[in-house]
Amino acid sequence: MASHSSMNIEKLKLVVLVPLFALAGCSPQVELSQEAPSSADLIFIGDNIITMDDNVASAVAVIGDRISAVGSREEILAMRDETTQFVDLGARALLPGFIDAHGHFGGVATYSALLDLSSPPVGAMENIDDIVAAIRNWIEVNNVPAGDLVYGVGYDDSLLVELRHPNRDDLDRASTTHPIVIRHVSGHLSSANSLALANYNIGVNTENPAGGIVRRRLGTNEPDGVMEETAMGLLPGTGVLVDEELGWRLRREAADIYASFGITTIQESNVSTSYVEALKQQALEEPFAVDIVTYIMGNPLSDEELELVSHDSDYSGGVKIGGVKFTLDGSPQGRTAWMSQPYDAGPPGVDADYVAYPSYDPDAYRQRVDRLLERGVPVLAHANGDEAIELMIDGIEESLSGEEMPDHRSVIIHAQLIREDQLDRVKQLGIVPSYYAAHPFFWGDWHRLSFGDDRASFISPVKATIERDIPFTVHNDSPIVPPDIMRLVSITVNRLTRSGYVLGPDQRASVLEALYSVTQGAAYQYFEEDEKGSITVGKRADFVVLESNPLTIDPLQLENVGVVETFARGKSVYRQVGLN
Ligand SMILES: [Zn+2]
Ligand SMILES: [Zn+2]
Repeated sequence: MASHSSMNIEKLKLVVLVPLFALAGCSPQVELSQEAPSSADLIFIGDNIITMDDNVASAVAVIGDRISAVGSREEILAMRDETTQFVDLGARALLPGFIDAHGHFGGVATYSALLDLSSPPVGAMENIDDIVAAIRNWIEVNNVPAGDLVYGVGYDDSLLVELRHPNRDDLDRASTTHPIVIRHVSGHLSSANSLALANYNIGVNTENPAGGIVRRRLGTNEPDGVMEETAMGLLPGTGVLVDEELGWRLRREAADIYASFGITTIQESNVSTSYVEALKQQALEEPFAVDIVTYIMGNPLSDEELELVSHDSDYSGGVKIGGVKFTLDGSPQGRTAWMSQPYDAGPPGVDADYVAYPSYDPDAYRQRVDRLLERGVPVLAHANGDEAIELMIDGIEESLSGEEMPDHRSVIIHAQLIREDQLDRVKQLGIVPSYYAAHPFFWGDWHRLSFGDDRASFISPVKATIERDIPFTVHNDSPIVPPDIMRLVSITVNRLTRSGYVLGPDQRASVLEALYSVTQGAAYQYFEEDEKGSITVGKRADFVVLESNPLTIDPLQLENVGVVETFARGKSVYRQVGLN
């Protein structure tokens, strides 16, 4: 475990030298796999090949789905014949395919069919009137019959001028004859109009479920429409309007959306075993062009059901089970991240000592993570607030105590409000933090209000993680924000909020470090560092071609670097429109 992590970071340091070698005109040695035939299926040549390992290269050859040679032009061009597809990169850059470290593939598919209520730059909602108008328009354009459910996703109270959630009264203005449910951008809150509340029997007598809150009109027991965390379960989920056939079609399209951002390995988190069986069946009939790693949602399973979950060592048709995911708390932008110290500003009406709450029984987590690690099943745990992170780490520590450390690579998903002392324990225990590093841009200004500047500035502390030599990843948690990796890299490097404030300047990563987290680091998180994450002989021929070299451009331009083409297993899976 320890040797793995230091090896990865060492490689990362070595690769920094690449531009120096290139400048010196040093001709790299070609590296060929032993049995490499002389004819390549695909060859890239160019001056901006970012291998993410310690090799310098100006050309790459692919045979089948593998990288067969990495080296100089002359050496690689000797492998070219009339059947070889030849790509002269010119000013473009070639990188290993990007790896999605955390997100919800099916959610991206489902959301693409629902009413988008996001605020800029993703969508257009600036105030509650915009949301009301968008719902009315959706009903009209789609001819939604009275009585049929209208589902909107992605609204963000922190970006609406009113700085509050749309409630039942607001949504009643959109329609009183259609039940309306809208989901907060965090996925941790929903809001419903009066008809929806009535249809699902939510009223004065509805009690708060464990791990959730039915918000009430001030001073009464009357629900105001907003549901937090597990209380969202009283309303239908986002999949309710997507039938099976449409769902599978949308998933195929979603794989293309990911590929358009250079992603060749996708995460499908929080799913059921029966869903994964169906997904594998689909993959058997028509393999997915990119890889999809699924994680079974552990929270709702009984001990017996959990005991039956196992993980796959290999993909079939592009799909495998990676392990089990738990959710331990809420989200900082929803002000439901479970903290050890009070919020500077909590949700409306809470006490001054508000710290939010766990969304899962801590003892159940401890006992279950122990059993899973014992069986060698990889574990992810969603933990945003430092108290939830403490629980995540405690569970791992208790489970491993007195044992020789297995290569478990348990992942803290989000890890946003992790503390310095917790990073030390993460290092010691071989835990991998996967930061929701898109936050400083999307909600950085909001976090300053919620947590104060000290805590907000240390959110997703990538640099403190690198200093400790801890393998780490960053993610978009799509569909919460789009699976745009170059924007994620840009935010990880710049940490600029929407208002232009630099949130925690000392936690800004270098471009190379940010690229590491979406390639090598993510491959490590998935136990796939021998297969993916760098342009290295023998690894999978997964690549992304970028418009320009991210290592040499102005870092403020990173988010504008377009994906030109994406290759998975040696085949083109996305090509920019209008490309000749
Ligand atoms: Zn999460
Ligand atoms: Zn998630």
